[in-house]
This record gives sequence, structure tokens and C-alpha cells, in this order.
Amino acid sequence: MPSNKSLADWQQFAASLSIEGRAFIQGQYVTAQSGKTFDCISPIDGRVLTQVADCDEADVNAAVHVARQAFNQGAWSQANPRKRKKVMCRFAELIRQHADELAVLETLDAGKPIGDTTTVDIPGAAYCIEWYGEAIDKVGGEVVPADNHLVGLVTREPIGVVACVVPWNFPLLMASWKLGPALAAGNSVILKPSEKSPLTAIRIAELAKQAGMPDGVFNVLPGGGTVGKLLALHMDVDCLAFTGSTQVGKLIMQYAGQSNLKRVWLELGGKSPNIVMPDCPDFDRAANAAAGAIFYNMGEMCTAGSRLLVHRDIKDAFIDKLLDKARGYQPSNPLAPATSMGAIIDYIQMKRVLGYIEAGHADGARLLAGGKQVLQDTGGFYVEPTMFDVPNPAIRIAREEIFGPVLSVVTFDTMDQAIELANASEFGLAAAVWSSNLTTAHEAARRLRAGTVWVNCYDEGGDMNFPFGGYRQSGNGRDKSLHALEKYTELKSTLVRLR
Ligand code: NAD
Repeated sequence: MPSNKSLADWQQFAASLSIEGRAFIQGQYVTAQSGKTFDCISPIDGRVLTQVADCDEADVNAAVHVARQAFNQGAWSQANPRKRKKVMCRFAELIRQHADELAVLETLDAGKPIGDTTTVDIPGAAYCIEWYGEAIDKVGGEVVPADNHLVGLVTREPIGVVACVVPWNFPLLMASWKLGPALAAGNSVILKPSEKSPLTAIRIAELAKQAGMPDGVFNVLPGGGTVGKLLALHMDVDCLAFTGSTQVGKLIMQYAGQSNLKRVWLELGGKSPNIVMPDCPDFDRAANAAAGAIFYNMGEMCTAGSRLLVHRDIKDAFIDKLLDKARGYQPSNPLAPATSMGAIIDYIQMKRVLGYIEAGHADGARLLAGGKQVLQDTGGFYVEPTMFDVPNPAIRIAREEIFGPVLSVVTFDTMDQAIELANASEFGLAAAVWSSNLTTAHEAARRLRAGTVWVNCYDEGGDMNFPFGGYRQSGNGRDKSLHALEKYTELKSTLVRLR
């Protein structure tokens, strides 16, 4: 439900907040044992929002210890799933009750438009936690065919201590995609938010406690990559669920190999192709979706449709429409309700995006729109929606994940060529195809090597029923859906001999 608050209302509300920056261990907020903190900076204006606990080894060890104790003690791990359901649903309800506060925190911390955090991020997180809560007392094991003298049971059990290391683009939503199934399944969880956007993770820890989650079951450790690394190397962490870059994902696998072979689940980067065939059923809708695919959330989307593959016959007409849609994404104050494009997460990421724009020019791509930093006087980090016509799909901007509002437009002549271009990537997170022809659409969907394929739409399916994740170097495992429960449970065969 869109809020009816004005910019001034949101600014006033933001100013009234007292922001928590401490870690959450064993049911209470605590400072890092070293006493160290780091500045939490808002990308809206470069202002320091608060000091956040800069956790390190001592805090990681303390959190893992209490998480293990809670797991062994069993108040959560061995509780009747109906009890866990009740707590999870109450937790989701408390998130809804604090929706405005969480939305403002997310907007201040990550530069996301308030219109998005109030309608997508926060309701989506509550929905996810509730969904897994509601599911957990409805999934059972199997009694399997076996020799007559045996009873064979196949059951799933919680893994133990699960560490969740998450990125900054959808801070609470990506965290909830892991917390939902991991907690519902009965694990103890340690959440490590990104150092660039830790505030909502820290805030919801207290809501989980209020909802009735036993102490030690849900812990939050803010800090940098070192905290993630220590968790990934820890001998008493049983599973590490990671969402982030492919580069760090590769390290996480190595850390697991160097330590206890913990289960590792990776949700990584993408460079998703969006293919527009000449018989695209609705140019206007397709152009609107193509603009949203790359400019929504400032292009900081793992599923960003950052490669637009468009048929030569319709290219000019389609680009005209797309340019028009892109004009609707001019950056402005993220706290203003009408804003559709907010701030880039921080100065480093903005420089990275601008660096790719320079590379595009240098590699011979033709600028169609945008290309510049804007709103410098705010002290924040804003980049225009940017589009390049790319004659050579092998150049960097058309191959590498930029994670910003930069679109590469590539031209094709045949469907085979489009599929070949689409699949010529180290990633395989998502893809889309637009065609009125059922056969073309189905064939393309089959041949695209991606975890999600959209036909005549892009980024649809906020529903929890769809598994979400990637082929190739976009990761392994799947978030969302009942399949995600498999990541946070061990499979056990029990054979009972009757005689
Ligand atoms: P990142 O890999 O830099 O960081 C992700 C998390 O890992 C952060 O919490 C960070 O502190 C931590 N980290 C950093 N170095 C580490 C190390 N050596 N060991 C352990 N942890 C470490 O990614 P980011 O910049 O925060 O996020 C952007 C990336 O996330 C993009 O590549 C994007 O595609 C990806 N992403 C993927 C999905 C998905 O579901 N597939 C969803 C959202 C974002």
C-alpha cells in the first residue's frame, strides 16, 4: 500500500529516529568487544547516520558459541514446527507494524526510493518470513519403499548454525530470503549484513526477540568482509548462505574447503539478457519493462536486464520508446515519494559505475542517453540512467556486471544469433524474451541458460513460490520457494528393522 506521506513528513520522521548500530548477540544489543565502530554513511547526502559496531574475531566466536548453545538446547531447533510458525508469523507482523521505520532506515542507509522500500523491500521481507512460518508445519518426510522387514524413513533436520552473509542492494529482503527458511527449519542463525547497509538487519533482531524467538537463535554481526570470512572459516558454522559478488562467492567456497566443508550456498552476480524479437506483442510495455529492468533500484539488481538484445528491424523504433521511458528515471531525493531513481550505494560504487561508462566510450560504444554524475551539490552519489549502443558485444560494459544504471544495447538478426549472444556469458541468473509467437517464446525459454526466464515480461513474480537463483557463475542452490528449505536441512535416512 503506497504511503501518503510527503517528502517533509518522511524527512521529519527520519530526523526523529534513534538509530541502533550495535551487534545483537544472545538476545541483546552489544558493542563490538574491541569497542571499534565504523561510520554508517547515507548515500543520499554523504551524512554520517550513526556509528555501527565493527565486529571481529571475538564477536564472531561469541555469536557462534551462543548460536550453537541455543541449537543444542533445543528450545527452537526441537520445537514443534507449529510453535516456530507462530513466532515467525508474529515476527512478520512486527515487521509490518514497524514498516515505516524500517522503510526509512533502508532508504537512508541504501539510497533506495521510499516508494520502493515501503511497497517492495519491507512488505516483501515480512511476506517471506511469514510464508516460511506458514509452510513449516505442513512439510513432512517420507516413508519409502524398502524390504518388508524394514521401515524406511527419510526426514529432514535442521543443519545447526547457519551464517547468512548478504549484500546491500536489497538489504532486508535478501536477508529475509535466507532468514525465512533457515529459521523456520529450526536452525540458529548469524546474520552478517553488508557494512554499507547494516541498519534494518540490526533493527529487526529486536523484533524477532519480541516475537518470541529464544535468545541465541537469531544474532546479527555488523562489520566488513572480515566478519564474513571469519564465519566462512569457522569450524563450528555448519552452513554459509551467501548473496553477493561472484568474486567473493569463489572465496567463500575456498574458505569452506580450508575449514570444515560447511554447506555453502551462493547467490551471485548476473548480466541478464533481455531479448526483443521483431514480433514483440507490445512495444510500449516491452520498453517500459526494459527500462525498469535496468534502471529500477539504480540498476543495483542482480537480475538487472543489463543486456538488451534487440532485432535489427525494430531497433530504432524500440530505442526511441526506451529513451522516452528512461527519462522517467531521473535521479532525485530518495525520501520524495515520487522518486523513481535514488542514490548509488556509496562513493566507491559510483566511481565504479562511472569507470564503466568511461570504458564504454573508450571501447567504441555509442552513448544514447545519460552518462554523467548528477546532483553533486547534495553531497550524495547519483548517476543518470545511461544507455549505450554496443556494436561489439565482447567489450567490457556488455560482458561484466556493472551493478549500476548502465544499459548495453546489442543488435541481432536471427533468433539463433540472439540465443548465442544471450548465452555467451559467465553468468546465468535470469533472461527474458519478447515474442507473440508461442513456438519462438517456448524455444527461446528452453535454450536460455538461466535460473529464471521471463516471457513477455521482466522481473515479474514477487511470489515466494518461484525458486530464485542462477546457472553457471551466478551461483548454486535457490532462494525462495519450498526448495530453499533443502539448503538449511540435512537429509536423513532411518532404517528400522522389525524382525
Ligand atoms: P560483495 O560480494 O562485495 O559483498 C557481499 C557480502 O560479503 C557483504 O556482506 C560483504 O561484507 C561480505 N564480504 C566481502 N568480502 C568478503 C570475504 N572475503 N569473505 C566473506 N564475506 C565477504 O557484494 P556486494 O557488493 O555487497 O553486492 C553486490 C553483488 O551481489 C552483485 O554481484 C549482485 O549481483 C549480487 N547479488 C546477487 C543476488 C542473487 O540473488 N543472485 C541478489 C542480490 C545481489
